[in-house]
Amino acid sequence: MTAVRKKRKMSSPPCEACGAACCRYVAMEIDRPRSNKDYDTIRWYLLHENVSVFIDHDGDWFVEFKTVCRELDDSGRCRIYGERPWICREHGNDNLCEYFDTPHVHSFSTPEELDAYRAARRRKKAPARMSRTTRKAAPSG
Ligand code: SF4
Ligand code: SF4
Repeated sequence: MTAVRKKRKMSSPPCEACGAACCRYVAMEIDRPRSNKDYDTIRWYLLHENVSVFIDHDGDWFVEFKTVCRELDDSGRCRIYGERPWICREHGNDNLCEYFDTPHVHSFSTPEELDAYRAARRRKKAPARMSRTTRKAAPSG
């Protein structure tokens, strides 16, 4: 569960049928990586089991810990429903919920997946950089 995870608008959430997907993780927004050091920190996250990093539909980055809430019972019900935290109360109130749609545009579970994402981005940017360089170097007149 997270206060900051953004979700896309859907119909109202069928919590009874869901299996309590939102009670099985914690996610927190992190700064978008800009430097090699930033990426190296994310690499460190991903070296840990049950930790992943994702980019949501708005391009925001999150670190996610796959861990089940202690108050979730075996039938998928909240043991402290009446006293559950505000973050649980707000979740799904606006009819937005990961039951219907993944919040991930990109998701990384290992450092290798992050490396592949960076390599793909570099390949995508390379032609643009080259064409700018070529234009600059071209003779004028
Ligand atoms: S709010 Fe959504 S994810 Fe959470 S239990 Fe209900 S349907 Fe499932
Ligand atoms: S407190 Fe209840 S609603 Fe909140 S995450 Fe835990 S089981 Fe789910």
